[in-house]
Amino acid sequence: MKKIKEIVLATGNQHKVAEIMKIMADLKSVKFISLKEFPKIIIPEETGQTLRENALIKAMHVARETKQWTLADDTGLEVDALNGKPGVYSARYAGETATYEDNNKKLLKELSEISQKKRTAKFKTISCLCSPDGLAFFEEGILEGEISLSPKGDNGFGYDPIFIVKDSNKTLAELTDTEKNALSHRARAFQNIKKYIN
Ligand code: IMP
Repeated sequence: MKKIKEIVLATGNQHKVAEIMKIMADLKSVKFISLKEFPKIIIPEETGQTLRENALIKAMHVARETKQWTLADDTGLEVDALNGKPGVYSARYAGETATYEDNNKKLLKELSEISQKKRTAKFKTISCLCSPDGLAFFEEGILEGEISLSPKGDNGFGYDPIFIVKDSNKTLAELTDTEKNALSHRARAFQNIKKYIN
């Protein structure tokens, strides 16, 4: 099989682009291209029932449109006290047009009666690498932790300010980019997918 030289990142989320570029930076022979280079491409709606389906929908669409190998991810926050919610609906937890702040506020409200000990949660990322002719490879990355009582920290995005990393007393938003990328769900899912690229 021919060596992969260029990979398009199928996400419009610039936080994700920055994280993925750093996680993949050791693959010196591969150039990672953001969707800014393909302004006509619109990421399809995430209509899947699972993270895996949504990762595939995004990667497959962009791979077909650009005729390039493409990487995408779908991530969900699974809270044990809410039976795994918001999960696949993490982006839209507080409604279709919800901001990160709206989602965090809703989650803290839903958990207001739950003690710190019972606020365990995990981030799950499914990464998907697709070829232009429809080959797809998947990997998973998980980060365990718990939901804090209030937001802390200014780094990162999404639920980072309310997610305390297991065995630390810091939220993801209190970590530097390098520290988050050393342990995060996304870093694990993308580290694992490197073997298919190589
Ligand atoms: P997506 O569908 O993979 O873009 O992610 C769904 C939602 O999960 C996003 O809107 C964010 O709120 C949240 N999310 C994804 N990745 C992260 C992360 O690394 N930290 C915190 N929240 C995240």
